[in-house]
Amino acid sequence: MERPQQQSHTQSHAQSSESTLGPIVGIDLGTTNSLVAILTEAGPRVLGSAPQGDIVPSVVRYVVDGGGARAEAVGRVARASQSLYPSRTIASAKRLLGRSAAETRTFSLGFSLPLADGPRGIAALEVDGVIVTPQQVAADVLRELRRVAELDLGCAVRRAVITVPAYFDDAQRQATRDAARLAGLDAVRIVNEPTAAALAYGLGQSRRNERIAVYDLGGGTFDVTILDIVPGESIGAGADCFQVLATAGDTALGGDDIDRAIVGLWIASGRVAPTTAAERAELVAAAERAKVALADRASVVERASCGGSDVELTLTAEELASAAAPFVERTLAACRRALQDAQSSVAEIDRVVLVGGSTRLASVRAAVARFFEKEPYAALDPDRVVALGAAVQAAIVGGSRKDLLLLDVIPLSLGIETVGGAMAKLIMRNSPTPSKAHEHFSTSKDGQTNVRIHVLQGERELAQHCRSLGMFDLRGIPPMPAGIPQIDVAFTVDQNGVLSVRAVEKRSGREASIQVVPSYGLSAEEVERMERESVEYARDDMTVHRVIDLRVHSELDLKWIGEALARVRLALDPSYVTELETAMAEVRGLCESAAHDPRSVDANKFHQSKQALDVLSMRVHEVSIAESLRKS
Ligand code: ADP
Ligand code: MG
Repeated sequence: MERPQQQSHTQSHAQSSESTLGPIVGIDLGTTNSLVAILTEAGPRVLGSAPQGDIVPSVVRYVVDGGGARAEAVGRVARASQSLYPSRTIASAKRLLGRSAAETRTFSLGFSLPLADGPRGIAALEVDGVIVTPQQVAADVLRELRRVAELDLGCAVRRAVITVPAYFDDAQRQATRDAARLAGLDAVRIVNEPTAAALAYGLGQSRRNERIAVYDLGGGTFDVTILDIVPGESIGAGADCFQVLATAGDTALGGDDIDRAIVGLWIASGRVAPTTAAERAELVAAAERAKVALADRASVVERASCGGSDVELTLTAEELASAAAPFVERTLAACRRALQDAQSSVAEIDRVVLVGGSTRLASVRAAVARFFEKEPYAALDPDRVVALGAAVQAAIVGGSRKDLLLLDVIPLSLGIETVGGAMAKLIMRNSPTPSKAHEHFSTSKDGQTNVRIHVLQGERELAQHCRSLGMFDLRGIPPMPAGIPQIDVAFTVDQNGVLSVRAVEKRSGREASIQVVPSYGLSAEEVERMERESVEYARDDMTVHRVIDLRVHSELDLKWIGEALARVRLALDPSYVTELETAMAEVRGLCESAAHDPRSVDANKFHQSKQALDVLSMRVHEVSIAESLRKS
């Protein structure tokens, strides 16, 4: 079906408020560890019985009975006994959340249980022949956090602000909400983790304009975010503004990779040779213990049982640094991208905030300090800062903090396919959320009554290179000449990054819309590839986009000129008619080549031919208009 034709563009941002209904907690639902916090008079606090609050490992052990899998242990207990029950214990389930089984088959995710196809093709795991979805695992962790919060606060907890990596797309955010619902929690807001960290950071600071970089290296994800903290008074607003300028990262990069690299190093040097999943899991656990214990020592020794006997495994600081190096290097590449997107230099970054357990590694700190040319800010506890920020955001949602305002960003551009297969971007990458944009389109054929709206995400100029988010048809447009219907397409991205698209034909009032919850997520590799390609192919894409536009406009011109010529041919000088028809034939030929393969056409030459025809055709239009005036 015909795609719409582009006319004009506007983009704006909206902010809405909500009322207070009860205690709202902030939750950091981590790949490795999860925490729940609340904002009190004295500041944000992690809930739980431990002095600093409880850190709940995102690990669940299942038991299969009556055909279903039930959580037998959650958190610390499940984690401590992980290597005893490798086939029943699920850790790092967040890596699968909101993804398709097909997509995850191509990753090496390092799970100790088999991957399986869940309902509707979603990625899941198999425990003793029973399918367990990552939503279910996340729900079991959230239920435990809810229990911790209810015990601590002494009241029922039903609502939460939950954080997710900045790179989570709609499907992954939706899966997070689904998990919350399973756990009896309403996820009133989904917030990006680095933004939450900035909120926690912003709270205790003096009121001045600052640009900060949040570097978050956890167990399974890496994010870097560049943001500005703007004091309310300096912009005449009652609230401080946290404006995210850019984010970059990788949803499959973290401390887990370092643990596996350490095991790889032990195996490569012939120190161990695991043969079973249980042995492997135990070695990974030993590697992690060694890594954490190395903090201020030159080397450590860990024990693990492998091949039926106990082995002692040494890890030196040097070995650790070299195991971590390739991953640290990848984080710096993302930092470079984020700075570029924020159009910021290293010198403009006032502070670097470290988040995530893996930023405790000396080699990480050193690399970050070298890259940003300043010592990172370490006053905040990197394990807790995201949860504390989520608690602050919860208070903002609940209405008890009116002096802070949060702006977040959209990680990849959003738009629709226009006639000829070009991508018209409505909301640009790194636009703040919530965000709104609308643009006018029209039809490209006379009497066209239906228009297909194909919603896309990506940075490339051509629809075929972008990711398809969904499609719908606007039907029942009254037949009108091409270019006359006014189709307004509106994009709205809410606070949670969920996109709604609505198309209205203004003359008839006909409308259609969709809420885009794309079936599955993009991997960080895909996001990276799309970003890379958008730069590599930018010039080529733009030329092709231009040829497509030229073709679309020329086809309309040819049609109008043809109609005018048919009306007034006899009133025109025959030599002019010949000249005009020659020019038309040339442009028609270019249109046909462009329709066949836009790359085969020289855009400049096409432009010149079209312009020559534009000039030449004025005459026939003038005569045609004069003729119709004379008749009426
Ligand atoms: P996530 O946000 O993915 O849940 P966290 O921020 O809780 O992750 O970080 C967990 C990671 O931090 C794990 O890979 C863990 O091994 C690592 N980690 C925790 N403490 C230390 C430490 N002292 N040194 C190095 N790595 C650490
Ligand atoms: Mg985290």
